[in-house]
This record gives sequence, structure tokens and C-alpha cells, in this order.
Amino acid sequence: MPVQTQRLVSEFEKLVSFDAESYHERQIADYLEERLAGLGLTIYEDRAAQLLDEEGVHSADEESAGNLYGFLAGTAPGEALLFSSHMDTVSPGKGKKALFHENGLITSGGDTVLGADDAGGLAVILEMLTVLQEDRIPHPDIEVLFPIAEEKYSQGGRVLEYERIRARTAYVFDLDGTIGSAALAAPTILSFSVTIRGKSAHAGFAPQEGIHAIKAAGDAIARISCGWADEYTSLNIGLIRGGTQSNIVPDLAVFSGEIRSLEHERALKMAEELRRIAEESAAKYGASARTEITEQVRAYRTPEDAEAVKRFRRACHVLSLGDGKLIETFGGSDLNQFAQHGIQGLVVASAMQKVHTTEEYTTVQDLEKAAQLAVALVQNKED
Ligand SMILES: [Zn+2]
Repeated sequence: MPVQTQRLVSEFEKLVSFDAESYHERQIADYLEERLAGLGLTIYEDRAAQLLDEEGVHSADEESAGNLYGFLAGTAPGEALLFSSHMDTVSPGKGKKALFHENGLITSGGDTVLGADDAGGLAVILEMLTVLQEDRIPHPDIEVLFPIAEEKYSQGGRVLEYERIRARTAYVFDLDGTIGSAALAAPTILSFSVTIRGKSAHAGFAPQEGIHAIKAAGDAIARISCGWADEYTSLNIGLIRGGTQSNIVPDLAVFSGEIRSLEHERALKMAEELRRIAEESAAKYGASARTEITEQVRAYRTPEDAEAVKRFRRACHVLSLGDGKLIETFGGSDLNQFAQHGIQGLVVASAMQKVHTTEEYTTVQDLEKAAQLAVALVQNKED
């Protein structure tokens, strides 16, 4: 195969070396702009950082960057293709470095994440672009998108300038698991926060004058099931706080969590059910409940007969990766955002394991296979 392993691995090592936690993508964006321009792409960095600042989501500073877009004009007919990986990593992601071990294993130093999520995808896409040009492989228009703040519920992807994007088919390199697998569905993610308001009173002298917000919250929490609601839907209460001190009847309790469902309507129904329970429990104690629901990302499902899926399967065949393993994921990605704007695609496994932990790792072999897959997706050969 035309993929050059050493070049790919060095690129990966370089990309890992950037501090690029969410909203701190300036340095890696500068580097990637230079790389893409060097590969002959037309580059555009959008105003995502300013837009998110204006919305009050995150203040822009000298470390902020916009989403990076690159366009490579086609040398052959065919529908435009979009390849995407995000520039940011989770924390702890400062001072990352890639350590190389026997048998191709690559880990972090143990005190940070490795950042193969998503530097693996970035390296793979750069290698693919290099191979296309080096080997003069005919290709349709290719668009590359490197968003910011994917790890913050795809805030960068949410404010992208979609009118700029021509491709209707996207491959987002941002999934763990075996190379040759891909997610065709991802969930709606709703965050919720329930605020119960009661009334404070001295707990020793006049408890009868108080309205116990924590008791009301406890009642609601006991009635809300956590875990799997069905095979498509899960709910978690992950945080609780309330009260001020041990001799005061607490007037405030707040609990918050998340609902995920592969079916958008189901997630909304769960949220309404939660609101109803919170209100009932609060009323039982004479308290009030306010439930705030925030839609973080919306579910999508790419049909199995979509061109994006067929092309992926052909690429897997050519590389002897089987039929292409299609899965449903319970994690969001930038594809959730793209799908809201008429772009169909898959999130493909891109050489990352144990992501979001300091034990994150990848392998040289997986990086190589993922790069070959990216090239094969462009070539679109029948085997
Ligand atoms: Zn990721």
C-alpha cells in the first residue's frame, strides 16, 4: 500500500505534542493550516471562537481557534467527500507525548491522555491527502474539516458555516474499536438540572416552619430510574448538591444528569417524565421544582443503503477488513451536528483505545490500517 508508516507515525507524534485541550486549539490549528496549505488545499478558518464568545459559551482569547476547513479540487468526477477529525482533546492533555513500545504499541507518559482521540484521525487524514498527491490517485473534490471543541458536545461543529460545505457524504475519524468498524447511529444527548426550592428554618427550634428541599429531591431521585430505560435509552443522575449546614432545614437541592437515546423522541419523553416526577415530589413536600433541559446533540441514523455506507463497505472489502462492522454508539461526535445539516456519514474507527483516560493507547498497525482505509474510501474500488 502507498501509505508510508514512518511518515504517518511521525505526524502522529508531532500532533500529539501540541497542547490542544478544548478551546485551546490555536497552536495545533496554525500547524494544521500550514500542513494543509502545503498539500495544496485552500484553507479557511471560520469564526467559531468569536461566535461561541458572543453566545457566552466560552470566552475567546489568544489560545482560541476557529474550525479549520480545507478544500482540494477533484481530479476526477464524482460526489464531493468530507473527511473530519477534531482538533481538541480532553484533559489532562497538557504536556502530552507519545511513547513507543514493543509490537507497535503507543501510549502516553501515564499522566495525560495520549490524544489519539483525535490526533489519530488528523494524522490519518493528512497521510491520505499526501498519498493522493504522491501517487496521483484520481479523486473527487475533497473537503477536510478539523473542528474545535468537539469534546464539549461539539460546540465547534454546532456553529460551523455549513453553507460552505459541498459534500453530502462524510467520514468522521473519531471512534474507538477495531479498524473496519463504524457507527451509523448516535444518540440525542439531553442534559438536565432539577432545582428544588423549599424553605429554610432552624432545624432545632422550628423545623415545622421549614420545607425540606433535600427530602423532596430524595423522593424524586428515588422514583427516577437510572441506567438503561430500554436498549436505546439510558439515564443518569450524576451530581447532587444542597443545604447549607447541619442545623438548618435546607431550602435548596439541585440534582443533574443526562439522558441519552438513539431515538430523539424517546429522549424528549424521558425528559418530560423526569420533569413530572420532580414536580410531584416537590409538591408532596410543599416545595417547588424547576427542571432545565438542554439538548446537547441530536440523534442521527444513517440508513444502511446510503452511499456513505456502501462506499465504506467497498473500502473494507478491498482492505480485507471484512464487510465493515456497523454499530450504534452511545457517544456523540461532530457527525451529530453534520447530520442536522443534510450531511450523511459514518463515524469510523480511527486508531484509538481507552479514550478519555490516561491509559489511552493506539498502535502503529491501527494507524496504518486507518490511513489505508481513508485512501480506499477515496478510491472507491470494487474488489
Ligand atoms: Zn473524539
